[in-house]
Amino acid sequence: MTYRIAVLALQGDFAEHESALRQCGVEVMEIRQRADLQKTFDALVLPGGESTVIGKLLRELELFSPLQERLQAGLPVFATCAGLILLADQIENDSFTYFRTLDVTVRRNAYGRQLGSFHTEGNFAEMSRVPMSFIRAPSIESVGTGVTILSEYNGKPTAVMQGNQLALAWHPELLSDHRVLTWFLERSAAAGKNR
Ligand code: GLN
Repeated sequence: MTYRIAVLALQGDFAEHESALRQCGVEVMEIRQRADLQKTFDALVLPGGESTVIGKLLRELELFSPLQERLQAGLPVFATCAGLILLADQIENDSFTYFRTLDVTVRRNAYGRQLGSFHTEGNFAEMSRVPMSFIRAPSIESVGTGVTILSEYNGKPTAVMQGNQLALAWHPELLSDHRVLTWFLERSAAAGKNR
């Protein structure tokens, strides 16, 4: 059986996610319209981009409710930056919320405007010296009790896991170090077997 990952390809850096996934040897498909949801897939990727634009397109294309139902049912998801905002239960500085399946409160554009983007290295779970690129990234201001913190920057969480959802404020897909993606793929493959 092939392991197939669906990448939400409405706006943002979905092409970079697809390339990283292919380098990890998994089959990739794109979700661009409702008909794409008829295909089977084992996990979802929510890319970086503009959460407001992706959120608007999700609703216009009638993708929002079916995807939210699958996330609520435990579909594994890997979300970066805008993807984290789409999953967050609360967004401090936005009047909109989206899927709300991840029990965190985020603040959009918390690490500065475009020029405030930066690169660092840090620990993620048991891994060290993981390269982390922040691009107008959201901060995670608080997490619920069921949320595990996997990386931090300046005392604030920057990667969290809850159930089958892994969400990062930074962008591993832009770099050639695919350890975090591999970590997710291994876990989501195991979650799929148990579902
Ligand atoms: N600032 C963007 C937003 O609020 C996220 C930035 C990103 O995904 N790199 O949607």
